[in-house]
Amino acid sequence: MQHIIIIGGGIVGLATGLKILERNPALKVTVLEKEQELAKHQTGNNSGVIHSGLYYKPGSLKATNCIQGYHDLINFCQTEEIPFELTGKVVVATRTEQVPLLNNLLKRGIENGLEGTREISLTELREYEPHCAGVAAIFVPQTGIVDYKKVAETYGKKFQEKGGTIHLGQKVNKAKTVNGKVEVITSNNVFAADLVINCAGLYSDKIAEMITGEKSTVKIIPFRGEYYKLKKEKEYLVKNLIYPVPDPNFPFLGVHFTRMMKGGVEAGPNAVLAFKREGYKRTDVNLSELAESLAWPGFQKVACKYWKTGMGEMYRSFSKAAFTKALQELIPELTEDDLVDGGAGVRAQACDRDGGLVDDFSIKESTHSINVLNAPSPAATSSLSIGNTIAEMALKRF
Ligand SMILES: Cc1cc2nc3c(=O)[nH]c(=O)nc-3n(C[C@H](O)[C@H](O)[C@H](O)COP(=O)(O)OP(=O)(O)OC[C@H]3O[C@@H](n4cnc5c(N)ncnc54)[C@H](O)[C@@H]3O)c2cc1C
Repeated sequence: MQHIIIIGGGIVGLATGLKILERNPALKVTVLEKEQELAKHQTGNNSGVIHSGLYYKPGSLKATNCIQGYHDLINFCQTEEIPFELTGKVVVATRTEQVPLLNNLLKRGIENGLEGTREISLTELREYEPHCAGVAAIFVPQTGIVDYKKVAETYGKKFQEKGGTIHLGQKVNKAKTVNGKVEVITSNNVFAADLVINCAGLYSDKIAEMITGEKSTVKIIPFRGEYYKLKKEKEYLVKNLIYPVPDPNFPFLGVHFTRMMKGGVEAGPNAVLAFKREGYKRTDVNLSELAESLAWPGFQKVACKYWKTGMGEMYRSFSKAAFTKALQELIPELTEDDLVDGGAGVRAQACDRDGGLVDDFSIKESTHSINVLNAPSPAATSSLSIGNTIAEMALKRF
């Protein structure tokens, strides 16, 4: 029987496994995950937002997969009775120079087919978010919230019900091709596969090099996103989701307020270089991983170009007062005292040699593998659509 191995038990790997077995239940499909639980990294530490498709270049993989993935995710949550809410969100310009960017965003949303997304007056903004200030705003009714760890675990459950196998605690350390099959060597086992699908998130470049035996053309640069939480008695300051106008040169959305499905309101995330790929704390350092990021020519170019933005983010990481100041642009009455620590997530952001932070999703095929080399936000929203795309690529081979 043909055997497909998926490396990585995050939301993308699990959605891929599920979609392959939905299309061809006769295949043997195994997910190898290094942790003792599913979805421990990006999937388990994200903002929990069901993105509408507002931000992405029409026709890009992000736009098409987010819009399709949005509908697939909502259907899945309804069928599996996973709680979610379509809360809508406001995107707010707080300075007049941001207004043209906000208008471009609205235009893009309309091009991406977002019905009902519209400019709102400041009176309406106050109705949606009574404590929010700005000079112009748009409302996006499609946006929602969900707990992605729960979604990923349910993908895992459905995948197993369809005959898939998940092995936890299996860190893939090596891979080699022997007689047309790939031998995948983990800390305590050897698995043979006809096809390997690499969904290893923060380590996807490393795994791609292992499987293909070729130097990767992109490097994963880990960007930590730190959150604060609103104190319980201050949660009234945010009704749903409040976003700033993002800097179009940067792949991150800027610090925002998000009501979470599991309760509470998060403020953040910022974006600072993590000194370790799975470095959730400022003190987490892995010298060889840090040296690799700093030595990557593409990262050096990004650092030269955006050093001012980067320093600002770094400063906000160390100074709660500065973080609060950034948030006060959206909610002026917020004080430093209203915020408590809220944890962090680390984004796997692919960076090419020439200094481009890869904007779109990137999935590359080679002889015995399919490698997901860039799956940042909105990959959780888009997961079922990405899974379907990869399943199609995989099944063409059998
Ligand atoms: C701070 C933050 C906020 C975000 N907010 C949103 C949001 O609101 N909405 C949205 O749609 N998206 C959001 N995203 C993006 C989204 O979370 C990610 O795009 C998505 O989770 C990527 O899933 P993944 O399966 O590719 O990666 P991961 O969830 O990181 O999974 C990869 C898995 O591979 C495993 N692995 C790695 N190396 C090995 C190895 N050698 N052997 C075996 N296993 C291995 C890891 O342990 C991990 O479980 C956010 C991301 C972050 C970090």
